[in-house]
Amino acid sequence: MPELPEVETINRALRPHLLERKITKIDTHIVSLRYPLAPLHAQELLNESIISVRRRARYLIIELANGKAFIIHLGMSGSLRVVSPETERLKHEHVVWHLDNGMTMRFDCPRRFGFVKVCSLPEAGAEPGELRELGPEPLSSGFNAAYLYRMTRRRTGSIKSFIMNNAMVVGVGNIYVTEALFESGISPLRRAMSLTRKQCGKLTAEIKKVLARSIEIGGTTIANYKNVDGSEGQFIRHLKIYGKNRCPVCASQIQQKRLAGRNSYYCPQCQPMPNDTLK
Ligand SMILES: [Zn+2]
Repeated sequence: MPELPEVETINRALRPHLLERKITKIDTHIVSLRYPLAPLHAQELLNESIISVRRRARYLIIELANGKAFIIHLGMSGSLRVVSPETERLKHEHVVWHLDNGMTMRFDCPRRFGFVKVCSLPEAGAEPGELRELGPEPLSSGFNAAYLYRMTRRRTGSIKSFIMNNAMVVGVGNIYVTEALFESGISPLRRAMSLTRKQCGKLTAEIKKVLARSIEIGGTTIANYKNVDGSEGQFIRHLKIYGKNRCPVCASQIQQKRLAGRNSYYCPQCQPMPNDTLK
């Protein structure tokens, strides 16, 4: 699934192709993805300048001068690319935006879990109402030791599930939280409320580090993720514990456990488990 660094990479790559362009036509080749695509045929989406391309959590927001905006979610395996109109349409490129410079943006969504929604923004740069429930961005200054410490105090669930909850902090998926917990020396099975303030500081710093690093090198490719030019992310080569057998620090056997339906990896030596740890 494209995670925050992948979506941020796509966001940065799309921006120069889209900013100040106008959409002249939108083709939909399927009735609906996660939501119906009929709203994309509204006349008000055409011939308006694109004034902003940005990311919030794992959503891309493409804003037009008239306050209309597209919210795009890539779902499990979606991708976007900008190519010339002569480029043959891929089987699952279900939505095609034609731009006034003759290029096209295509949304490839093989499993149809992604979506394109149209929304109205109350003012330029505003957060779409649909995304109001989201927690802070992990790379923002608001996500820090004090915030994490405060929010975890009554949380008896695992720290890993807490971090993966988008209402607490957005876009820190399984791979990134696994790596950040390892770097912090914190077991994923620890109760969120058991973390000290110092550990909250360490964990927030490591989450920022692992995300920033991944953005720098273009995201992680596990399955289908590709950047808009078709290049694949390189971060998978830098993973230290996710999907590994031996700890790179102490050579212990890495433990694997299902936690909230996701594979968790941890080193029993480097990420010790105090007595209150979840079993
Ligand atoms: Zn270790």
